[in-house]
Amino acid sequence: MAIDPAQPYDDQNIFAKILRGEIPCNKAYEDEWSLAFHDIAPQAPQHILVIPKGSYVSWDDFSQRAGADEIAGFVRAVGKVARDNGLVQPGYRLLANVGKDAGQEVPHLHVHLFGGKPLGRMIAA
Ligand code: AMP
Repeated sequence: MAIDPAQPYDDQNIFAKILRGEIPCNKAYEDEWSLAFHDIAPQAPQHILVIPKGSYVSWDDFSQRAGADEIAGFVRAVGKVARDNGLVQPGYRLLANVGKDAGQEVPHLHVHLFGGKPLGRMIAA
């Protein structure tokens, strides 16, 4: 079910539990600001989620409240994960769902990184 992006941060969400090490993930990258792991239900040959370590519900929340260092660290992590996985030359797609119309299900900001095949239309017809 889609989440309300205006809700307060819920520290029981599944990505918060992954960040605390309470449930496992297939880690792709980690640094001071960010964690990246493979999506549990991949929708492309490469489907990696990159999340900030701070408590942000969505892109909307992050872009309002995060500090400059967090934002820079997170953006650099997304780029590094793409490079480290050989996705720059073939190309890749970034996606961040925010709220109901986008179908956001997990209330902790995550950027989807898709690659590994031609990805087709940007938005399904
Ligand atoms: P969204 O619809 O943008 O909120 O996407 C949530 C994504 O999280 C989906 O692609 C799920 O497959 C993925 N997901 C949910 N639980 C896990 C998990 N435990 N480990 C990795 N990916 C997950």
